[in-house]
Amino acid sequence: MKIGFIGAGKMAQALARGLINSGRITADNIIASSPKRDEFFLDQCKAMGLNTTHENAEVVQKSDVIFLAVKPAHVSKVASEIAPALSKEHLVVSIALGITLRNIESLLPTKSRVVRVMPNTPSVVRAGASAFAMGSACRDGDAETVERLLSTVGFAVEVPEIHIDPVTGLSGSGPSYMFAVIEGLADGGVKVGLPRDLALKLAAYTLLGAAKMVLETGVHPAQLKDDVQSPAGSSVYGMHKLETGGLKGILMDAVEAATNRSKATG
Ligand code: NAD
Repeated sequence: MKIGFIGAGKMAQALARGLINSGRITADNIIASSPKRDEFFLDQCKAMGLNTTHENAEVVQKSDVIFLAVKPAHVSKVASEIAPALSKEHLVVSIALGITLRNIESLLPTKSRVVRVMPNTPSVVRAGASAFAMGSACRDGDAETVERLLSTVGFAVEVPEIHIDPVTGLSGSGPSYMFAVIEGLADGGVKVGLPRDLALKLAAYTLLGAAKMVLETGVHPAQLKDDVQSPAGSSVYGMHKLETGGLKGILMDAVEAATNRSKATG
């Protein structure tokens, strides 16, 4: 299978690296494009062994699956450039925030096979979480193809398109919330006397470990929380402070606000 990326920035490179590291696709079967003004993105791709071009239509000609990995504002221009080169044999996978399947399909030839993905930045360390929705002209097997490709950079799941905005509010935007949580925990550690670099590492490993426990034990997080709180112990004292500040309500508000923002962008 030949893979093309229109747009050669952070997300395209993360996905390309995941594909190569998984051993599923070799670098010489991947091509990426970027305008001349953004040559440095293509230099980074060349360093990974990818083929590169300034011509978006060339990516289509040389690929079976084409990722649209440009900023949302560039999607319609890019779609009009690639439309003449597209056939029903191509699968177009858009990762552009807020651009609907119907919107992309309307810019491409009728019956173009289009998939909409909401990835997230931990894809760069192969710990991403992506959800994808299938377009109206997709064939049997397209969902499996997309799942196989995306799972090289983390968890990937098919959802109805109506869930893509909520996914954007949760896992798409969530890494930034969790970076703030890590920073806050580390600041707390520093306040009570830990060196900064140690506090940051402990905070990050704590989030990583808690997430792994949820995923690997399958136990509900409320139960796991109860399990670490001994009567009158330090965890329940800390938890009381978090609940006084409305931790869960604030997280729910954050997901809702980001979801609404994503809906408004589309
Ligand atoms: P980026 O700025 O790192 O990369 C964008 C790329 O598009 C660059 O290589 C740029 O040269 C290229 N480009 C610009 N105009 C072009 C054109 N006319 N033709 C071809 N290429 C062109 O952006 P990114 O962070 O990789 O984001 C790419 C897409 O992924 C966006 O639509 C964004 O909404 C989506 N996304 C990003 C994240 C994230 O966390 N970074 C998460 C989810 C979705």
